[in-house]
Amino acid sequence: MKALIIGAGIGGMSAAAALKQQGIECDIFEAVKEIKPVGAALSIWSNGVKCMNHLGMGSIMDELGGPMHNMAYHDGITGSVMTQFSLAPLVDAVGERPCPVSRADLQSQMIDWWGRDKVQFGKRIEKVEQSDTGVTAYFTDGTSAVGDFMIAADGTHSAVRADVIGYQTERRYANYVNWNGLVEIDESIAPANQWTTFVGEGKRVSIMPIASGRFYFFFDVPLPKGLAEDRTTVIANLTGYFAGWAEPVQKLIAAIDPETTNRIEIHDIEPFDTLVKGNIALLGDAAHSTTPDIGQGGCSALEDSVVLGQCFADQFKEKGKTVSGVIAALKNYEEARRFRVKDLVLKARKRCDVTHGKDMQETQAWYDELRHETGENIIAGLRTTIIGGPLA
Ligand code: FAD
Repeated sequence: MKALIIGAGIGGMSAAAALKQQGIECDIFEAVKEIKPVGAALSIWSNGVKCMNHLGMGSIMDELGGPMHNMAYHDGITGSVMTQFSLAPLVDAVGERPCPVSRADLQSQMIDWWGRDKVQFGKRIEKVEQSDTGVTAYFTDGTSAVGDFMIAADGTHSAVRADVIGYQTERRYANYVNWNGLVEIDESIAPANQWTTFVGEGKRVSIMPIASGRFYFFFDVPLPKGLAEDRTTVIANLTGYFAGWAEPVQKLIAAIDPETTNRIEIHDIEPFDTLVKGNIALLGDAAHSTTPDIGQGGCSALEDSVVLGQCFADQFKEKGKTVSGVIAALKNYEEARRFRVKDLVLKARKRCDVTHGKDMQETQAWYDELRHETGENIIAGLRTTIIGGPLA
């Protein structure tokens, strides 16, 4: 029984780990020769950390997770605290901590955990063929590979998605630009054990501690698509967009290294119901591409993998390692995941609009709420999202 896994991101590597637990051989194909993640870091929320533990990779979280014990919102202009609270009640309620991690380190360690020499780099899928008994992947280098089924975890620009869902999807611009990177921890910018966010004018500046004494930072600004901005203009751009903002924000701008700062126009894809066609399944961003506004894109890829493994365990028990077992397992994976992932994409979209001033009155009402927030409502929202996962 062999699976072809397309993509060696969080989705592909976690899917391979889940299938390995079910005794399935996996061949992993990755388009690029060297993985260069588009973002500097990720918050892996408790649902994602539980998945990593379940898949046998919990030690990676232990090593990379930053000490994010508290959460605070500040007025971006005055710098005054709007709300500040401990995340301990969340951890108590859901039974696991959140782990902000370096994205490059996470991907690298997941690949090392599997065995770097067992991942086939430089293999970009361009075409897939399926029959009743198997799948064939064709790569741009002229080679091909055959397996019993395929997990397409080839990200938001998936080359396999249209084959599965029957049409080409458009990416939807979320109307804001995100700059992100890493800096050394500086407690005059924000406490070293807190997720701190400055908000105002539909913009935000966020700082999160990751391991090894580093802050993950990001800046969000509502902007039209396609502006002539890049790494060479990053300091000037941020200085302009955040003119008049509080001192810690100015300090952060002064501390960042333009060479390692990413600029991303944020998109998502309208959710769809079909995640599986016969013996091909979409997983991760290929299946549900979201804005990062609730920090759940990577977490839901991990959830997909856990559920995939559970579906194979159930079907193999019932039908043995058979073609019909594979088809039933993938169908059950689709059924178990499609509502959850749609819900997360739409939740993130809603959060995105409020955070980024789509309707400034609504955004202002949110700022007003934050000034009265004790932490209870935010924790309740985070808890609902987390316990909706497969390992609640
Ligand atoms: P990817 O990470 O995109 O991996 C896909 C892999 O497939 C890549 O390695 C790619 O090279 C490869 N590939 C592509 N095409 C082909 C092909 N044709 N053939 C073979 N291989 C191919 N999520 C969170 O959980 N928490 C966060 O805090 C968070 N923050 C984010 C911040 C930003 C700014 C962004 C942009 C995203 C954020 N996300 C976050 C979302 C998260 O990054 C993604 O959901 C996650 O990386 C998806 O993993 P994936 O493996 O499905 O896709």
